[in-house]
Amino acid sequence: MAYKITESCVACGTCAGECPVGAISEGDIYSINPDTCISCGTCAGACPTGAIVEE
Ligand code: SF4
Repeated sequence: MAYKITESCVACGTCAGECPVGAISEGDIYSINPDTCISCGTCAGACPTGAIVEE
């Protein structure tokens, strides 16, 4: 089970700085590598638009 970033993402980059394992990549919207994510939930709590959800 990993977290994923939905289309509510505004590409602010807040989550990428919070992820302890560097699983979040920059793009038009940000994305989470499911193989690296440890499902800690830190990014979901940090996201100002609530764009990050558990899959
Ligand atoms: Fe990184 Fe934790 Fe978010 Fe997974 S749930 S992408 S490990 S901050």
